[in-house]
Amino acid sequence: MRDIGIDVTPPERECDDKNCPFHGGLPVRGQIFRGRVIKSYEKTAVIERELIKYVPKYERYLKKRSKMHAHNPPCINAKPGDFVTIAECRPLSKTKNFVIVEKVREGDR
Ligand SMILES: [Zn+2]
Repeated sequence: MRDIGIDVTPPERECDDKNCPFHGGLPVRGQIFRGRVIKSYEKTAVIERELIKYVPKYERYLKKRSKMHAHNPPCINAKPGDFVTIAECRPLSKTKNFVIVEKVREGDR
């Protein structure tokens, strides 16, 4: 298995996806985010992350949500509800330039 250069727990299973950072040749670099999977398709997942921003004018915190698409390699196979780490990679499609590199915790379902 390849060392992807990020401190994450590698998946236990193996896959033959060429766009898998561990078992294929996909390099990852750039930004790393954590979020929850809200939808998963074949090899694609929609990840929602929550940002908490402080608004000085009202002295309160504002919750912001952002959705992003990420590649879901078969060896990780994240399901809706799962908490995952995603890392930036080269563009895989029009909307995907992130890949799931770690399943932090399983969903409640
Ligand atoms: Zn894999």
